Amino acid sequence: MTFPSPHAGPPAASRLPVVILGAGPAGLTVGNILRAGGVDCLVLETESREFIERRPRAGVVEEWAVRGLEERGLAGNLTARAQRHAECEFRFDGRGHRFPYGELTGRHHWFYPQPALVTDLVREYADVRGGAIAFGVRDVRLHDLDSGRPSVSYTDPDSGERRLVRCDFVAGCDGARGASRGALPARARISRYDYGIGWLALLAEAPPSSDCVLFGMHPDGFAGHMARSPGVTRYYLQCPPGDDPDDWPDERVWAALQQRLRAADRPPLTEGRLLEKRVLDMHNYVVEPMVFGRLFLAGDAAHLVAPIAAKGMNLALNDAFLLGDGLVAYLTRGEATGLDGYSEACLRRVWDYQEFSQWLSEICHGASHGDPYRAGTTLARLRRLFTSPAAAAAFAEQYLGTAAGY
Ligand code: FAD
Repeated sequence: MTFPSPHAGPPAASRLPVVILGAGPAGLTVGNILRAGGVDCLVLETESREFIERRPRAGVVEEWAVRGLEERGLAGNLTARAQRHAECEFRFDGRGHRFPYGELTGRHHWFYPQPALVTDLVREYADVRGGAIAFGVRDVRLHDLDSGRPSVSYTDPDSGERRLVRCDFVAGCDGARGASRGALPARARISRYDYGIGWLALLAEAPPSSDCVLFGMHPDGFAGHMARSPGVTRYYLQCPPGDDPDDWPDERVWAALQQRLRAADRPPLTEGRLLEKRVLDMHNYVVEPMVFGRLFLAGDAAHLVAPIAAKGMNLALNDAFLLGDGLVAYLTRGEATGLDGYSEACLRRVWDYQEFSQWLSEICHGASHGDPYRAGTTLARLRRLFTSPAAAAAFAEQYLGTAAGY
């Protein structure tokens, strides 16, 4: 694929090189890279700034992603404040089994809540690098994506007027339910995988009960524990898909967590008020290719991976680095290689992480499936991590996302 030369000279008010849909980790990272590269852009976001700075979601950031943010001047607060984790623990057979992936690889994870990262990114983009951003926009529509002159229209929340912005490129970073996914042409191939299970995602106002991630494999269902901050912990409980969070009063939640994460050699969990309860119907999807004419998808708009292996935000950042760098190279130097190879480069890591999430899902959910054969093979996979150095090294590499090449 090649693109005609970018137009020269400063853009008119209603014309910009790039319009970015969505102020999540993907969109804000692309915006920051463009601003640092001297490329004008506009970020359109349907929610308010306060809302996106508080929306709780991810927390695990892989080392290469932190390095990528650092190289672009976006990781100052993260590296100063985030915790580092180099171990996880599997709880099965009534005991805790520590898995020291840091010791095996010399690598670690960073734990930094997504709202903190989004707060850093929006501040850097809007307040430091002077990037334009419109919050609370409504009814976003994409036009003429297959032409060389696409545009985006939206309703301004203050005036109620429709606005049209012409551009060279649209960065579709607006997540799983945004306008980009709605604008995909019939030629888009969407592969979807449904796990057939739900996870009750919980945020507890309670200190972490362990210094690492806990994966609890229990015949009643999976339970997970992930630190978010010294006073807040994320927990997950496997439940039927479509379950009603109201059927999970706090006492039932804590009883299930204590039961499924119980280990004779570990203290019970520290309980606290539950700040969030929502049921996620676990599924994955991948949109291929990730480019349609002048629309470049990034992050959850292009691929969703259920939070089993904590990979979604990392993939969003990988896309954003490649897209931001590719757009700057093209719009400032006329080099199209990055944009030409964008979809293929992203999809290699995307499919690898999809496969790992499926593999880890089998480990997490096999014990509660009700099928003794699946329970047996699940246990065999788990034990292999502690008896086979080759299996342990392969797990560590995938969990950290450190393969030499994608
Ligand atoms: P988003 O963060 O969804 O951002 C998209 C933005 O677009 C949003 O701000 C949205 O309001 C906006 N928007 C929507 N529609 C429009 C529109 N029409 N026009 C303009 N803007 C629009 N990932 C990890 O890597 N590690 C983890 O530990 C982890 N834990 C998770 C836990 C939970 C409970 C969940 C739900 C997810 C988790 N993830 C995790 C996944 C991670 O949160 C997502 O993959 C990540 O947010 C994707 O970033 P994004 O920028 O692509 O999309």
